Order: sequence, then structure tokens, then C-alpha cells
Amino acid sequence: MIITIDGPSGAGKGTISQLLAERIGAELLDSGALYRLVALVSLRRGIAVSDIAELTAQARKLDVQFLAGGQGVQVLLEGQDVSRAIREEQVGMQASQVAAIAQVREALLQRQRDFAMAKNLVADGRDMGTTVFPDADYKFFLTASAEARAGRRYQQLLGRGESVDMDALIRDIRDRDERDQSRSSSPLRPANDAILVDSTDMGIDQVLQFVLDRLDI
Ligand code: C5P
Repeated sequence: MIITIDGPSGAGKGTISQLLAERIGAELLDSGALYRLVALVSLRRGIAVSDIAELTAQARKLDVQFLAGGQGVQVLLEGQDVSRAIREEQVGMQASQVAAIAQVREALLQRQRDFAMAKNLVADGRDMGTTVFPDADYKFFLTASAEARAGRRYQQLLGRGESVDMDALIRDIRDRDERDQSRSSSPLRPANDAILVDSTDMGIDQVLQFVLDRLDI
């Protein structure tokens, strides 16, 4: 069984996908982590986002391991734990630029589809239901207003002791939405058969319950 959870940045997909996977005993594909890894490599090695050939080559040979553990999934790049590094704002912004390159998306496609070997899979991203797993059993599209999403991110960063500017967060979220929706390859949009969930006024537990209620398990 494949369940896809798509939606814009900060809609809570990561949290819901992780909780759902735990609850139903499924594997988790965090597709955003793959784009973040390519972004991290490009930042560390000084590869410009205009150097499509090199970015695509890096995406193709990405040496990544996802290790499921007690505190969520640990992400290893060439054996080194980069779970925290890939979550930095700068990496997220770079990821959204790298993800706009069709050749990079193509290079990461099979790697994502390989996750379908799992008995049950929860796939979290932007194009899981439209491009990567068009025949998924259940598709959800999770949204929330830009302000609500920025507010949640604000709390998250504050909790980590990072200094944040709410206006800058809203601007970043709008920029990412714009890039995700306007790119020519797999733009962010709900699959025709996706169930829409607007979580602006919903808590995590409510969203999780909403999703569970729609599964025939
Ligand atoms: O979901 P997350 O914020 O970790 O994703 C990082 C970036 O990767 C997003 O801003 C988005 O542009 C891109 N992405 C994508 N397609 C996916 C997952 C993420 O384009 N399936």
C-alpha cells in the first residue's frame, strides 16, 4: 500500500507522514531530504545552481542512507550524519532552486520509486501523487495558509534556539511556494484524485485522525 502526502512547505507533511508511518507500520520516504542533500552538496562544493550538468551528476551519484531510529529517520551522506545540516534554512532555499531543474528531478526519480518495494509506504513531498507514485492507493494534499505555516516554523526554530524574523519566514515561504508552483517539471499541485486537507485551523492530532479515518485498514 502506498500513501502519498503532498503539499507546500511547512504544511506539516513531515510530522504527519512520520506519525502516520509509525502508526500503521509503514516505511517513510522523505523526498524533500533528497533535494536538500543535492542542495547541501552544491553548497559545500561551491556548485552554482546554473551548473545543471554537475548538479545532475551529483544527484545521480548521491551516496545516501536513511536509517530509521527512535528519533525519526537519520540521514547519512557518504556515511556522515547530515540530519541537522539539511534542515537549515539556507539549505531549504537552495533545495527549492535545485528542485526546479528537470534533469535533477529525473535523476532522483528511480531512487524514490525504489521505496515502493516496502510493503507499506508513506511518501512525503510535492509530486508524490502526481509524478512519482501516480497509482498510489491513497493521496492526500495538505495545505495551510502561508501565515500559519510561517508561524509553525517560527515556533520550531525558536525551540531550537535559533533567532528568527517572522516577516522573513513568510517571505521565504511565499518564494518557495511560487517556485514550487511555477516550475515546468512536476509543479506543485494536488493530484486529481487527492484528498485535500486544509490544516490552518487543525492541530496535528486532528490532521492525523482525519487521514486515518480515510484509510480502509
Ligand atoms: O519538503 P522539504 O522542505 O524538505 O523540501 C525541500 C525542497 O525540495 C522544497 O522546497 C521543494 O522545492 C523541493 N521538493 C520537491 N519535490 C519533492 C520534495 C521536495 O520539489 N517531492
